[in-house]
Amino acid sequence: MPENKTSPEVQLLDLKAQYKPLKAEIMAAVERVLDSQNFILGKEVTSFEEEIAKVLEVPHAIGVSSGSDALVVTLRALGVGHGDAVLCPSFTFFATAGGASRLGATPVFFDCDEDTMNISIPALSRYLTEEVEERTVNGKKGLYDRKRNLRVAAVVPVHLFGQAVPMDKVMALCEPRGIPVVEDAAQAIGARFNGKQVGNFGAFGCFSFFPSKNLGACGDAGLVTTRDEKLAAHVRRLRAHGSEPKYYHHEVGFNFRIDALQAAILRVKLPHLASWAEGRRAKAAKYNELFAKAGLSTKNGGPVKTPVEAPGCPGVYHQYVIRMPAAKRDSLANHLKAKNIGTAVYYPLPLHLQPCFANLGQGKGSLPVSEAAALDSLALPIYPELTDEQQSLVVNEVAQHLK
Ligand SMILES: *Cc1c(COP(=O)(O)O)cnc(C)c1O
Repeated sequence: MPENKTSPEVQLLDLKAQYKPLKAEIMAAVERVLDSQNFILGKEVTSFEEEIAKVLEVPHAIGVSSGSDALVVTLRALGVGHGDAVLCPSFTFFATAGGASRLGATPVFFDCDEDTMNISIPALSRYLTEEVEERTVNGKKGLYDRKRNLRVAAVVPVHLFGQAVPMDKVMALCEPRGIPVVEDAAQAIGARFNGKQVGNFGAFGCFSFFPSKNLGACGDAGLVTTRDEKLAAHVRRLRAHGSEPKYYHHEVGFNFRIDALQAAILRVKLPHLASWAEGRRAKAAKYNELFAKAGLSTKNGGPVKTPVEAPGCPGVYHQYVIRMPAAKRDSLANHLKAKNIGTAVYYPLPLHLQPCFANLGQGKGSLPVSEAAALDSLALPIYPELTDEQQSLVVNEVAQHLK
């Protein structure tokens, strides 16, 4: 409950503001599916997949049950399993690494870039040049992590907070070594690197339609993209128990289908995706301007580091995350909460320090940039419907507390 009823509320995310103008269309889509009584795959899902493939400028799009399941099914399609290492950033949502673990593989965590908080390219490069060696096991050549004695099976870069990873650098490291790349684009639908949309660089792109994502369903849903027809067919098979034709199984798959209801709802929202991304970018630019004007930005000696975009990586701002001296972070969050302003910490504990990954031996101090980011970053309200007045209020309250 709001603690202070006198200040107007600024929510971290106001989904009702998006729902209101679309309500009639969404209700009609739901009614269409209920009237058809076709809930599993079928025309609604096929149409959604065709439409979103066009929007994302990718040849193949496969609807799945969630972003997490998109990661599991794509890694499985690449043959990832026991004895394999999957390289990913530590500063990300749990599912990035959870997918590899669920398949019996071992996540190997990398630190992040100080400015973008995306996976550190120098760290990845160092690892792939110094910590691996080529081995032939069972007649198959592969790169092996020398210390861990694991095959390097995939790299999963995350386009964190809506900003693309410099994919030219990732691909230049991975392609010549034959390491497949799975892009975790759950937070970055519609984002581009050098003009090309995320989900178009690696073997696969994985997207989430979790309700709070930039394109949100009314429940769980996700998407896999690929440029490779064979990989697309494999993922289609794996999302429905690995059967082809129906009731014949050459491999064990999953029940990872997207609901027809979610597909129908997403078809209503999809045409708005580009304008929503523009709206989020505009809000981010407005925050940058307000922080600079208030003398708060580190660019003019203030305490607030506003988001930094790498060249060629304009963000779609799934989150607008500021950084500040760590000692101030929690008290600022509490101050804003008292003023009815929503914030969140993404993420308070980097994955290499999670209890469930403690056995992997990447202890405290091993990934210092990620560990610092967990303590000094704070996400502010951002969504296309946010008003100038609300943004001014947020920045004024940040100024109140930090000055
Ligand atoms: C949301 C998210 C996921 C998982 O998506 P779900 O649809 O919630 O399963 C994976 N990776 C990242 C980076 C995410 O933000």
